[in-house]
Formats: sequence, structure tokens, C-alpha cells
Amino acid sequence: MKEGIHPDYVRTTVKCACGETFETGSVKANLNVDICSKCHPFFTGRQKLVDTGGRVDKFKRRMEQK
Ligand SMILES: [Zn+2]
Repeated sequence: MKEGIHPDYVRTTVKCACGETFETGSVKANLNVDICSKCHPFFTGRQKLVDTGGRVDKFKRRMEQK
């Protein structure tokens, strides 16, 4: 988006590949997305969060050893 140019910002319905639909603000009338907050692993799955937590613990342990 170029600076100084402000297209009409409207409420639009976003449709996700999982079937979830939600409203958001966009310059496009309709949006189709592959992933949303309802089906994204970050929001739905614990796997990614657990994995990230483990990495943080390792990092902390490494810091404490120094
Ligand atoms: Zn989705």
C-alpha cells in the first residue's frame, strides 16, 4: 500500500478453508483465507506451544550454566 493513498476501508466477510467465517476490516469486499484463528495451530493445537516452551527452557538452562 502506498503512503498517502487510503482506499475505502470496509467491513468484509472473510471465509476460511476450514469453513469458519468472520468479519474484519479490509479494503477488499470478500476474502478467502487458508487458515484462521479457529484452525491455526497456534490457536488450536498445543503442539507448537509445547515445542516453543521446551526451546525456551533449554535457552534458560543454557543461560544459567554460564
Ligand atoms: Zn480456519
